[in-house]
Amino acid sequence: MPRLSSDSTASSDILPDPRVIPRDRHDVSRKQISRGALRVLYGLKDAGFRACLVGGAVRDLLLGRQPKDFDVATDATPEEVRKLFRNCRLIGRRFRLAHVIFGPEIVEVATFRGTGNGEADADRHVVNGRILRDNVWGTIEEDALRRDFRVNALYYDIADFSVIDFVGGMEDLEQKHLRLIGDPATRYREDPVRMLRAARLAAKLGFTIDSEAAAPFEPLGHLLADAPPARLFDECQKMFLAGYGLASFRTLVQYGLLEQLFPGTAQALANDESGSLRAMIERGLAGTDARVADGRPVTPAFLFAVLLWGEVAQLAARLQAEGAARSLAWQRAAHRVMAEQGRRVAIPRRFAYAIEEIWALQPRFAERTRKRVFRLMSHPRFRAAYDFLLMRADESAELREWGEWWTRAQELSPDELSASLAPKTAGGGHTAAVTGKPKRRRRRARRGPSPESARPNSQD
Ligand code: ATP
Ligand code: MG
Repeated sequence: MPRLSSDSTASSDILPDPRVIPRDRHDVSRKQISRGALRVLYGLKDAGFRACLVGGAVRDLLLGRQPKDFDVATDATPEEVRKLFRNCRLIGRRFRLAHVIFGPEIVEVATFRGTGNGEADADRHVVNGRILRDNVWGTIEEDALRRDFRVNALYYDIADFSVIDFVGGMEDLEQKHLRLIGDPATRYREDPVRMLRAARLAAKLGFTIDSEAAAPFEPLGHLLADAPPARLFDECQKMFLAGYGLASFRTLVQYGLLEQLFPGTAQALANDESGSLRAMIERGLAGTDARVADGRPVTPAFLFAVLLWGEVAQLAARLQAEGAARSLAWQRAAHRVMAEQGRRVAIPRRFAYAIEEIWALQPRFAERTRKRVFRLMSHPRFRAAYDFLLMRADESAELREWGEWWTRAQELSPDELSASLAPKTAGGGHTAAVTGKPKRRRRRARRGPSPESARPNSQD
């Protein structure tokens, strides 16, 4: 058996006797477990292997929540798993796993990991305290120890339907508390993304982060700068697009982790004296959460456009103040912000392109000639850009009016809208909400003209 003592988690983290909660003393029932996960669990058991549901699924079921995905832990090796299931793929090099596929469902099957023999082991590669490869098989107790939080190390054993707690996870669940297994600083050095996972799980579950688990955020948060940007993008999707984005954002701000992930946004928020940027971001996140709750689609592009808006708007204003023309200033600001952000969080190109388009369309909401209104409305990104405009309502009274104008414009039939708009001149005046005309255009609005000096918005 591999040694335990050389690692961050020691045998002292293991309860002297594992707490076994028999089937009639907990709320996990097989009815709540997906068909695919049950097939995998029984398939392994029938072949003579040990098989348990583990991690977030057990945690969520005990909390009465529907798990997002089901992970299985077993003493079968990935190759043995593959021999048992036809629909199985082995993935990963750093962390080898089996995926068993049932239509749209993927059940992740991981072999119990041991803690290895420190840095000398060929299957476990540790550099400067960071785990780069972990393919040392071990016992179920060791597997529990290498997990991140105590609440994530509970096992549901298909052999007798009991829940097994090796590390005190049940106690934390009852107290709604997140504690790390082992020494927090060492565990974050091994994998800095665990800091984000702490914030994310606290937000998702409404748990508090244990003070010992939160204490290293400040001294070690900077390690996130070296985390792989593609992994941080995945983590961002889980934080912001899974229905608890607003809570995640607030938790990141509360623990000083936002600046590690979105340094420009944290800076823009520090400059945001009126609080309108914070209100805008929170509105964007709440809107996304509501869409997730309704089962409507959400895109990372909109969300990143919201999160990075403060930075891009402040930079564009500065470039303009330094003499750059408006559209050039915006273009440069957008490119610079996306390039900087891309070094932390790898935003795939297609989303980056969409983000820049959402920003670029914002000034065009000021243009109200017939031709331009119809052109903007038929733009493929119109809807996202319009939703974005609504998020910005707190920036100025004028922006609020723009939002109202475009809302009404979409309620009219094309003929009605066309009739209400001047062919060339701005305005059209079918409603008192028609304001915010582009500058240097003569206005003929019948009602409610905005003051001559009014500028459409901060970016114009
Ligand atoms: P969610 O409900 O959002 O999926 P989760 O806890 O299930 O949350 P996963 O990423 O699905 O998160 O991970 C499954 C399990 O794998 C975790 O519960 C934990 O036991 C273990 N795990 C995941 N990431 C890490 C990590 N970085 N370090 C240690 N253990 C981890
Ligand atoms: Mg999970």
